[in-house]
Amino acid sequence: MKPSPEIEKAIAKFPFVACPYARALAARSEAFRRQMEPDARELEDDEAFGPDPFDEEGEASGCFGLKQRFPDRVLVMTSNACFMNCRHCTRKGLLQHAEVARSDEELSACVNYVQERPDVRDVLLSGGDPLVLPDDEVMRFVRAFADLGQVDVVRLCTRAPCVNPARVTRDLAARLGHVGKVWVNTQFNHADEMTPEAVDACANLVNAGIPVSCQTVLLAGVNDSVEALLDLFRALQRARVRPYYVFQCDPVEGVAHFRVPLEKAKRLARKCAERIGGLGLPRFVADIPGSTRKMPIELL
Ligand SMILES: *Cc1c(COP(=O)(O)O)cnc(C)c1O
Repeated sequence: MKPSPEIEKAIAKFPFVACPYARALAARSEAFRRQMEPDARELEDDEAFGPDPFDEEGEASGCFGLKQRFPDRVLVMTSNACFMNCRHCTRKGLLQHAEVARSDEELSACVNYVQERPDVRDVLLSGGDPLVLPDDEVMRFVRAFADLGQVDVVRLCTRAPCVNPARVTRDLAARLGHVGKVWVNTQFNHADEMTPEAVDACANLVNAGIPVSCQTVLLAGVNDSVEALLDLFRALQRARVRPYYVFQCDPVEGVAHFRVPLEKAKRLARKCAERIGGLGLPRFVADIPGSTRKMPIELL
């Protein structure tokens, strides 16, 4: 089917990317399809926020591909590609030309940056999705930081368990688990995404000794109801994945149609808390540019 002119424009501005597994899942799940398919409303968004509210391109660190906003942790961009370009992505306007620390020199510069700041104990490998890289490349990034005595946690931030679960092989999980410092943070937004394949991918990680957590994004029309959220949290727990955060949609351009009003988000957070135990209950937070932490929404 030929896309409409509006959709063509949306794709020209925010490219469409989806691996075969994601397309197949979208064909079965409306909630997932909305995260994958371009929408003409992406172009109607108020541009007040611009594409880069967190000034990620400003590169405060002065170190290629590395961002530090908090004293004890840094984020390192390892790739600028994903298995699927989520339409709600916080970096949707930035990713294509994001700086990625790939060469040996760039990676050593990031490692040096961490070594010069002994307070840093948690390194996030993000992107893009680090798992678009071959296993050896992933391990090169992981080892570079895990080898530092000051680093307690290397966080692999990947949506692969959800959008391309076959990528999370037992072999890769074993190599990551062997390091002893690797945690995986992934993203599931709806119980439909907890397919047998996705559950297997999570099991590969957990069975290899890797703590797996989920960062969900609160999305209008996808998961903005108490039942949808509770179904997801329960499905995550069955897969031994810890629900970690539920994020308010970031104030980036092109995602306004996904944004859930703050008062509604607070109501959802309260209702969920009354219906599920603490281990199944993530923190509902908003990432506010300039704030000193991911802000619990009840404080907003
Ligand atoms: C969100 C974020 C982190 C991680 O924050 P947590 O609250 O520990 O999950 C680290 N660095 C940057 C730049 C971030 O945006």
